[in-house]
Amino acid sequence: MGEWRTLRDLNVEEQCKDYGQALNVLENVYNATDELACWRTELAPVAAIDSYQIIDDPDDGAGWRKVGALQEALRRNSVLPPIVLAHTATSARGGYGLLDGRHRFNAALLEGRSFIRAWVAHVGCCGGPASNR
Ligand SMILES: [Zn+2]
Repeated sequence: MGEWRTLRDLNVEEQCKDYGQALNVLENVYNATDELACWRTELAPVAAIDSYQIIDDPDDGAGWRKVGALQEALRRNSVLPPIVLAHTATSARGGYGLLDGRHRFNAALLEGRSFIRAWVAHVGCCGGPASNR
């Protein structure tokens, strides 16, 4: 599965869309800093991503327009930036928390994609290191 990386490493390689937001969630929800080598690049199963992140507000016009544009990009086979996930214990919400990439996730879901390119944190699971904060 390749080596463990830090969020900082990954962001140098291919810039995260909202690094500050992803780091904020990593620190406050997963108790890890951007120096914890708990990350791998993976193809994550779309159906297992936090179902609370599915956009279901019919009045979110701006959100739907973004998702629609991303759906078109997927149909053109454009490569979108990876979304940012954290592997969690499986619950009714799914097995992956979403740190960045809500619109890309929703576009992949609506396009019926099985997998999405992602950075996935394994904090204390799957052989990943324990939280460091
Ligand atoms: Zn894991």
